[in-house]
Amino acid sequence: MMDAGRHPNITLLTYSEVEEISGYVGNFAVRIRQRARSVNADLCTGCGLCQEKCPKKVLDTAFGAGMGQRKAIYTPFSQAIPNIPVIDRENCTFFTRGKCKLCEKTCPTGAIDYEQQDKLLDVAVGAIVVATGFAMWDPTLLPQYSYGLSPNIITGLQFERLSSATGATGGEIVTADGEKPKRVAILHCIGSRDHHAHEYCSRFCCMYSLKHAHQVHDKTGAEVYDFYMDMRAFGKAYEEFYERVQEEGITFVRGRGAEVEVLADGKLRVKGEDADLGRLVAVDVDLVILASAVEPQPDASRVAFLCGLGRTPDGWFAEAHPKLQPVGTATAGVFLAGCCQGPRDVPDTVAHAGAAALEVVRLFNQGEVTISPTVAVVDAAQCVGCGECILTCPYGAIARNADGKAEVNAALCMGCGTCVATCPSGAITALHFTDQEIVAQIDGLLQEFATVQDTHYAIRNT
Ligand SMILES: Cc1cc2nc3c(=O)[nH]c(=O)nc-3n(C[C@H](O)[C@H](O)[C@H](O)COP(=O)(O)OP(=O)(O)OC[C@H]3O[C@@H](n4cnc5c(N)ncnc54)[C@H](O)[C@@H]3O)c2cc1C
Repeated sequence: MMDAGRHPNITLLTYSEVEEISGYVGNFAVRIRQRARSVNADLCTGCGLCQEKCPKKVLDTAFGAGMGQRKAIYTPFSQAIPNIPVIDRENCTFFTRGKCKLCEKTCPTGAIDYEQQDKLLDVAVGAIVVATGFAMWDPTLLPQYSYGLSPNIITGLQFERLSSATGATGGEIVTADGEKPKRVAILHCIGSRDHHAHEYCSRFCCMYSLKHAHQVHDKTGAEVYDFYMDMRAFGKAYEEFYERVQEEGITFVRGRGAEVEVLADGKLRVKGEDADLGRLVAVDVDLVILASAVEPQPDASRVAFLCGLGRTPDGWFAEAHPKLQPVGTATAGVFLAGCCQGPRDVPDTVAHAGAAALEVVRLFNQGEVTISPTVAVVDAAQCVGCGECILTCPYGAIARNADGKAEVNAALCMGCGTCVATCPSGAITALHFTDQEIVAQIDGLLQEFATVQDTHYAIRNT
C-alpha cells in the first residue's frame, strides 16, 4: 500500500467509486466520483489531533467489524494510505445539529472543510483490473449458531480485530466482560459447503481457523475445541502448520458444529457430532468463533454491469476460462484480480493480481488488438430502430447511429449472438454464423451421416 502510494506512475484515488465506464479495450473512458472527505488533503498533515478531540464516538462496523468504536472524524484504519481523515457526515454533530466544529478549532493547518463537495473525474484508460474482493456472509441467517444472541459469539473477522494490536482491546483476547476465556470453540464451514447457504468452500477459513486456534492457545492458554468437517490445508507448508497446531494440544472434533446454545448463565454450549467417535458431543465454552463464509460484494451486479462482466451461478465474477484465461474476462481489456473472482488466500491473491498486471502489460506492449472475426452486423435496410438489441446486448456493444438505426461496435462485440436472436426484424446476423451457414453445416453433417448409414447397411447385407 505504501509502495503504491509513493509510486510516481500510480494515482491512488481513495474514498472514490467508479460511476460509469464506456469505450472498449485500449480506449475506455471512466467516470469516478471522489467523495467529499470534508478535509482538505493538500493541507492535512495527518497529525490526528482532530480525531483525538472529536467528542462523537460511533460503533466501527466497517474496518472494526463492530468490535470497537471510532470517532465521527476518523482514519479508516491505522496504516491507511493516504493518512487523511474523513468526516462521517451522518454522525458528525456539526452536520447533524449545526454545532461543535471542535475539529476545525483544533486543526493546526486549517484543513477542515465542511463545504467540500464530491468531485467527478473523467479518466481515459487502456485496460481495467477489477479487484473488489469479497464480503462477509451474515451468520444470523443460520439461527442454530445463535449469532447476535451473545457478544461472545463472534465471526473470524471479529476475532481478527479482537486479537489485533490496533483493535479495541490492544490485542488482548478477552470475552465481552473483559475476562480471559478458559474454553474456546472454533466452528468451521459456517455458511460454506452448506446447501442452506453457500455450496462452495470459502477456501481460507480452515487455515485462518488454525491460526486463530494457535493464537487463542498461545495468548490465553485456553482449551480450544476445533469443529471441522475435513481440513483443507492445501498451500505450501500449510499441512505442517496443521500438524504443529495439533501438537500444541488443540482438541479437533471431526464433524460440523451443529448448534450453539446460549445458556441461562451466559455460557455457550456447542453441540455437534464427532464422526471419529461416532457419537454426539457437547462442550461448554466462554467464546465461540464462527468461521463464516465469504460471498460476493453486495454491489457485484452493479460492478458487473459497469465492466461488462459475467458472473458464475454463485455470484463471483466469471473468468474467461478457468485454466487458460484465469484473469481474463468476457470483455476484452477487463481483467480480474483476487477474491472478486472467488475466495483465495493472500498468496493466491498476490499471484492472481500479478498475472492480471502482466496481462495488461502484455496488451499494451502488443500495441494493437486482435478481435474475433465473429461479430454481429446490422443490415440497415431491415433495421427499424426499435432498440431491443441495445437493451439485450450484455457487452454494451450496440448504439444508435445518426439515422436512429442500430450500429455494432466491433471492438466491443463478443459475437455471443444475443442480438441476433433478439432482433424482431431479423436485421442482425453474426458474421460467419449466418442462418444459411448454420443450415448448410447441418445439411453437410446429415449427408455425411446418411453416407455412413448406407455403408453400414451395405456391409450388413453382404
Ligand atoms: C477472517 C479472515 C482471516 C483471514 N486470514 C488470512 C490469513 O491469515 N492469511 C491469508 O493468506 N489470507 C487470509 N484471509 C484471506 C484474505 O483476507 C484474502 O485473501 C484477501 O483479503 C483477498 O484480497 P482481495 O484484494 O482480493 O480482496 P479484499 O481484501 O476484500 O479487498 C477488496 C477491496 O476492494 C474494495 N472495494 C470493494 N468494492 C469496491 C468498489 N465497488 N469500488 C472501490 N473499491 C471497492 C474493498 O473496500 C476492499 O478494500 C482471511 C480472510 C478472513 C475473512
